[in-house]
Amino acid sequence: MNFEGMLNPTARDMAPSGIRKYFDMINEMKGVISLGIGEPDFVTPWNISRAGIRSIEEGHTHYAPNSGYGALRQEICKYVNRKYGLAYSPDDQTLVTVGGSEAIDLILRSIITSGDEVIVLEPYFVAYKPCVELAGGIPVIINLKAENEFKLTAEELEEKITAKTKAIILNFPNNPTGAIMTGDDLDAIVGVLKDKDIFVISDEIYAELTYEGKHVSIASYPEMYDKTILVSGFSKAFAMTGWRLGYALGNSKVIDIMFKIHQYSIMSSSSSSQYAAIDAMRNGDKEVEMMRDEYNRRRRIMHKGFNDMGLACFEPKGAFYMFPCIKSTGLTSDEFSEQLLLEEKVLVVAGDAFGTAGEGFVRATYATSMGNIIEALKRIERFSRKRQRD
Ligand code: PMP
Repeated sequence: MNFEGMLNPTARDMAPSGIRKYFDMINEMKGVISLGIGEPDFVTPWNISRAGIRSIEEGHTHYAPNSGYGALRQEICKYVNRKYGLAYSPDDQTLVTVGGSEAIDLILRSIITSGDEVIVLEPYFVAYKPCVELAGGIPVIINLKAENEFKLTAEELEEKITAKTKAIILNFPNNPTGAIMTGDDLDAIVGVLKDKDIFVISDEIYAELTYEGKHVSIASYPEMYDKTILVSGFSKAFAMTGWRLGYALGNSKVIDIMFKIHQYSIMSSSSSSQYAAIDAMRNGDKEVEMMRDEYNRRRRIMHKGFNDMGLACFEPKGAFYMFPCIKSTGLTSDEFSEQLLLEEKVLVVAGDAFGTAGEGFVRATYATSMGNIIEALKRIERFSRKRQRD
């Protein structure tokens, strides 16, 4: 059989995630300090895990309702209301998904018709571009700039909007840069979008991990509420990556289409994870705050460390990533990451894994222990100084 010719060309030609290469390399190595993985080093808070375990003990091991347990949908709506002042109906504006990942895919498949343009900001979370393409859309890239602290400006946005623009994906706090958009920053973006028929897919999965000021959701602007589909989940703030649970909130017409696709392709999210998540929404605030405070301490140390060693790094205000510029070493992002790993056994991810705008930068996560961070900074400094002198 001619497999090449019979496969979906969009899927066939999709590049594998640029992050994977490094993980394959460290599988073979001992003593590596990884600043590579985008997930909390904390285990899920015990009260949350216990709620999941109890649900299994009590026999809640069957399919959950397609859109998620009503109790969880209610808790999600209460949560985003008390945190961000957003009002959604648990009945027809809320869908529980398998991670934020599924929500992003469902939104794109629900709104894109072949040839629609979707604006994607670079550097980006690695799934956006392939998911747009798989849904038949055309990613239109905006290169965000370090000198703007990797925020989106109104001018950059305006320049890329065409008659074919169907949506824009926003992700603040951002993976991989740690950038946030304040209310003032968003005002300018809302000014551009408010009168246009363009969806905003707002991936706010790191919202709780905002270190200065309060997270502002673009959905909280009355002019944007109906156009915005908000994506979030439990992986990051609640340290629940393995439970695979997220959600989408938005206009009932969009959520209804997403629900249909979800019903046919996934059926329902894990029952025990949903029981755990109910507890997370009701009782998780203190634990989230404790983890955020710890990330914040590490953020300050890492930020100072990179700048002191001549790897200029703007101060990320959210998520758990640093995005230092490594141009002073004379290496490309890929050379830097590969040589650092082989020579000093520290894993950082080359910035171009997140799109070409990431060239000249690397991503380092501070979701690892303070001890690891301090040792990794020492090794990175030794490695960089050698190159900076040459
Ligand atoms: N959005 C962003 C920006 C992310 O960084 C991630 C995970 N790395 C996700 C979505 C997906 O998270 P999950 O599917 O675990 O909810």
